[in-house]
Amino acid sequence: SDTPTLIDGKGFAATLRAEVARKAALLKQRDSVVPGLAVVLVGNDPASEVYVRNKGKMTVEAGMNSYEHRLPDTTSQEELLALVRQLNEDPAVDGILVQLPLPAQIDSDAVINAIHPDKDVDGFHVVNAGRLATGLPGMVPCTPLGCLMLLKHYLGNLSGLNAVVIGRSNIVGKPMAQLLLRESCTVTIAHSRTRDLPAVCRNADILVAAVGRPHMVTADWVKPGAAVIDVGINRIPKEDGKTRLVGDVDFEDVSRVAGAITPVPGGVGPMTIACLLSNTLTAACLRRGIAVPD
Ligand code: NDP
Repeated sequence: SDTPTLIDGKGFAATLRAEVARKAALLKQRDSVVPGLAVVLVGNDPASEVYVRNKGKMTVEAGMNSYEHRLPDTTSQEELLALVRQLNEDPAVDGILVQLPLPAQIDSDAVINAIHPDKDVDGFHVVNAGRLATGLPGMVPCTPLGCLMLLKHYLGNLSGLNAVVIGRSNIVGKPMAQLLLRESCTVTIAHSRTRDLPAVCRNADILVAAVGRPHMVTADWVKPGAAVIDVGINRIPKEDGKTRLVGDVDFEDVSRVAGAITPVPGGVGPMTIACLLSNTLTAACLRRGIAVPD
């Protein structure tokens, strides 16, 4: 069949970051406000180190302030909660992000829910999950927000489409399903107990894979012409002993049937940071009761 549209997350993310930078400049000029994002990293997980470094760099590139807090992997829950409370009170901080995963001695939910909901730029706080589920404005998790932006850009109106989300985590699958429901899709959430997952997926006009299993989705799971969004980030060994990143979707195989598809890398990943910057700008404006510049 025809080659599918390649959904260029990397390019779209660069455009979105430039938009945020433009609006941040207007905000500085108009209201003398420079949004600030505090990122907290506990321990030295190599993947987390890379994410935190990129987030800091791109925050500064967008004309906003970045505050990095690095704590040892022996940090206690009380110590981390004390830092979160300090950042909640800090007027220079508009967004707080605690990089996950946290070491085993720390209860992630307790930490996430200690962040002031209006500074919760990851959108993981139970108040923001509730706002999303009930249709109130709030902070929306960055990865599913990025996926939705790509889908709307490439498909336009999503109303009435069948959407299948594989994965039901609080950070990707569930908020993704909520966002698609808000766009009036007919949403199915699939997970490890789903019966006949390939048949469920074949109903999808929009298929989002957020599982963490390399190349799980193959062509026979995909309805011809469907839009396929691959959230998975999996590191697999190469023949030369190094590793490479692959998604949850077998890109080459699925490209034979899909109408549009995101690559890994260069698809959803770059959108996540761009949406984080966008959320930080929004948080800075909402907290002060001022409009986000156009
Ligand atoms: P979780 O491990 O929290 O959730 C995985 C989900 O997949 C679970 O709901 C699980 O079901 C489901 N699942 C596992 N095995 C199967 C199976 N065989 N069939 C169907 N469903 C299955 O992962 P996350 O949601 O945090 O992340 C998912 C992927 O997305 C990972 O690869 C992660 O690295 C990536 N990711 C990428 C981001 C980006 O910026 N691009 C950001 C965040 C994550 P059950 O609930 O039944 O166990």
